[in-house]
Amino acid sequence: MTVGCEADDNTLDYDYSLYEIHQRHLFDDQGMAPIASSDVTFRRAAISWEAPTSTHLEGRLGLEDGTWTSWRPVTPGWSEGTRHTAHLDAPENLRAQHFQLRLAHGVAPTHLMADALPRLGEPEADRESPRYHDISSQTFGLGEADFPGLHLRAEWGARDPTCTYTTHTPSKITIHHTAGVAATTATAPATLRQIQSGHIDDREWCDIGYHYLVDSQGGVWQGRPRTVVGAHTSGYNTNYVGICLMGHFNDNQPPAAQMSAAAAVVEWLHQTHGIPKTSTYVKGHRDYGATDCPGHLLYGRLSEILSAPTSCIPTSTTEICGDGIDNDCKNGIDDGCTSPPPPHRNLRRWHRQRLQKRYRRWLHLATSTSHLQPHRPRDLRWHRQRLQEWRR
Ligand SMILES: [Zn+2]
Repeated sequence: MTVGCEADDNTLDYDYSLYEIHQRHLFDDQGMAPIASSDVTFRRAAISWEAPTSTHLEGRLGLEDGTWTSWRPVTPGWSEGTRHTAHLDAPENLRAQHFQLRLAHGVAPTHLMADALPRLGEPEADRESPRYHDISSQTFGLGEADFPGLHLRAEWGARDPTCTYTTHTPSKITIHHTAGVAATTATAPATLRQIQSGHIDDREWCDIGYHYLVDSQGGVWQGRPRTVVGAHTSGYNTNYVGICLMGHFNDNQPPAAQMSAAAAVVEWLHQTHGIPKTSTYVKGHRDYGATDCPGHLLYGRLSEILSAPTSCIPTSTTEICGDGIDNDCKNGIDDGCTSPPPPHRNLRRWHRQRLQKRYRRWLHLATSTSHLQPHRPRDLRWHRQRLQEWRR
């Protein structure tokens, strides 16, 4: 289900998508869409579509008492060009079981998704929820170092979160697809704004539900800070990082650039948070509930994201190794620490090695993810200059 990333509600473990179309044949010659039914009753239908503003949709809800509401205009709560989001609520104290749309005026949408929402608001505490505490969204997480080349929230015009984030410790990864239109790096910002609007305005979540979103050309976009709880997998959000590949992968293969970017993000999370790159720690959304997400074809290729040939990235930490031995990418494993400083006469060489290590790290990241924007060229230049100084 979903507007945008295939997110779901934490009280339910099944796919409650009402409509999901990418062509114009949702509506028949009379402009009627078929009646869509949900397995459980719901409070709200959330709709996301792409059509000219001259297109007018109407919807009605089939209620649990067997009656139908009258046809009501589906009025966008958010619009930007041809992109829109809206919702229709069941009357107070009643819940709906069915939903139907009709085309009142104009051309049919080129893309439309409608989802049944049994409840509104951020998912409640997870089943295996550890202790955590609220922190101010303004002061935490958004400014700290993140995946190299990451397109930050400001780059896609993200709205501020509407409520307070909750911190967590990233320790597992869940892969999703948007079940929507594939977004290029150029179209991703508008797609992200539409997804965020669906999540905030129609689901009443604090923010976009995902931590990272990957476009079809390999651009990686920031959702929520990875150090706060997301809203993407029913009952499994605390300590899980949600990575969403933009597109629909039941019938389409994810492009190579998108796959390698997703693999680079997973590798970076592995290096940064020690999340093991195994199928126990990195799963698809459908492993936690009855949903297609992340699509049949992407799901069948999750092992490629884990086994992608990403050579070891040397860490640039200054933490001294407990055992005094720095396994800097020995046998493809970096122990994430640095050797202790030697006697003072060799201190200069030790510092030079640290700089070289840091330089190699940036070089590695710049080349291994070369499909992304060039990363931090100023950093590379800085390290080069420092090395030249040392050589003098
Ligand atoms: Zn999903």
